Amino acid sequence: ISKIGVYTSGGDAPGMNAAIRAVVRVGIAQKLEVFGIHSGYIGMVDNIIQPLQLRDMANVIQRGGTILKTARSTEFMKPEGRAKAAANLKAAGIDALVCIGGDGSFRGAHALWEEHQIPVVGVPGTIDNDIYGSDKTIGFDTAVNTALEAIDRIRDTAASHDRLFIVEVMGRNSGFIASHVGLAGGAEEIFTPDGLTTVEKAIDHIKEGIARGKTSSILITAEGQKPGRAYDLADSIRKKSGMDAKVSILGHQQRGGSPTAADRILASRMGAAAVDSLLKGQCDIMIGTEGERLVTVPLDLVTKTEKKTQIDLISLANLLAT
Ligand code: ATP
Repeated sequence: ISKIGVYTSGGDAPGMNAAIRAVVRVGIAQKLEVFGIHSGYIGMVDNIIQPLQLRDMANVIQRGGTILKTARSTEFMKPEGRAKAAANLKAAGIDALVCIGGDGSFRGAHALWEEHQIPVVGVPGTIDNDIYGSDKTIGFDTAVNTALEAIDRIRDTAASHDRLFIVEVMGRNSGFIASHVGLAGGAEEIFTPDGLTTVEKAIDHIKEGIARGKTSSILITAEGQKPGRAYDLADSIRKKSGMDAKVSILGHQQRGGSPTAADRILASRMGAAAVDSLLKGQCDIMIGTEGERLVTVPLDLVTKTEKKTQIDLISLANLLAT
């Protein structure tokens, strides 16, 4: 291979820029030409492709978001859209791709390989950490720390006013952010889409705490399929116990901000490994982590397998919040 393309797709995540930087700089060090494809599959279909140089990567490692922009493309979901994208790549002489994104983006990458034999290596970038085959995804550590900072502030006001707070964190259908933030933030109860706890259990837990002299509590909830479910939870607690809960929905601030050291390091290692894999002739795989080690996992397996929330973190948080 002599020309590779890199793109970010799906939701943005802090650390994506560090991954792009690693792909560009390792690629150029290996005598490859590197092209940036803008706005994920939209840029691939609409041919918004530009060469990237070493200096284009100056001052990006610390920036949140993605300098290549990201988007969702409905056209790419159809075979005709993918054929158009493949024709654009071939016309630009691009031999192989690095896709930084979530499982939807990898489904697209896998289709591109199957239908048009364009080699793709995936790098998992999403704050949700819900990608099978990698213990950690780029952006997760930053999002957890951002949410934690907010929760620490909420804890100050909750403790001063003797209040019950429900804090909704991101994570869609996965409970990774909620379980990590809940344990690290000393939450009294953590609601995740796994349905491990119930409103009744939470009320009992809070009442037991009050009996022991506790005056404030924080419950964490993952947004689930329906953002705003923290309000439903507050209603339900009010109806069942008469307790009044304040609601705080952290929202998109969790997606932005400067990536943590851990995310910059992870992104740099994964971006570099993705280029190395392509040079070794590997493709249709994702770079993942198993503990500290980098591993490769077939994209098909990544997209077809569900990653389970670490339930042990939730039960430990429960045990510790006494
Ligand atoms: P995040 O987890 O942050 O949302 P994601 O990569 O899962 O990231 P999606 O919106 O699911 O985000 O996917 C990004 C893009 O990948 C879609 O807009 C679409 O263009 C493409 N894509 C998703 N699924 C498929 C598929 N089955 N076939 C082809 N392309 C797909």
